[in-house]
Amino acid sequence: MQSVAARPISQRGMAKAISFTGGNRSEAMAILKYYLTNTTPQEFYAAVTTALSNRMILSTDVENFLSGLEGIGVATSSAHTAVRDNVLRHCLRCHQPYMERDNGPRSCIIPHIAHTIPAGTEVVQPPTVGVACCGAALSMSVAPISVHFMGRHTTSVENVEYNPINVKTCAERNCAGIPGNVVVFAERT
Ligand SMILES: [Zn+2]
Ligand SMILES: [Zn+2]
Ligand SMILES: [Zn+2]
Repeated sequence: MQSVAARPISQRGMAKAISFTGGNRSEAMAILKYYLTNTTPQEFYAAVTTALSNRMILSTDVENFLSGLEGIGVATSSAHTAVRDNVLRHCLRCHQPYMERDNGPRSCIIPHIAHTIPAGTEVVQPPTVGVACCGAALSMSVAPISVHFMGRHTTSVENVEYNPINVKTCAERNCAGIPGNVVVFAERT
């Protein structure tokens, strides 16, 4: 009687890695080019994000995908560094604590500060709301979703455009963050 263990082991990851080497290289290139040509950046991003949040995804596929991206120079070693970085930093713009692994182009958000409209003021059409922070005049429909700043958290003052209304320095806010200073997580052993 044949045991279950005697069946051939699935070589899925290996077979995939081998199938696109040598003579099939140009075919793989053509398939990837066709795929990229027929996929919007948004669709591609959404597909990758959805796949990576799928708990059933095979770890070998994730590892192959990452090594493939690194191999062709799309992903860089800075991502490894960020993921392993356990330093708790203080953002010099929004003054929130953050870890570099959670940092990204939508992490640091500063809302506009609207002027206070005195009670009884006649509202003009189309209604706009002036902002005190940067002088922008936003239509009422835009104001709730428009922000003064959206980008990456930073520990460098050179990256921050301070103003006296909504982007103040640590000293002005009297918060604990000091430029260049980082708070390291206590390693509990
Ligand atoms: Zn503003
Ligand atoms: Zn920030
Ligand atoms: Zn601060």
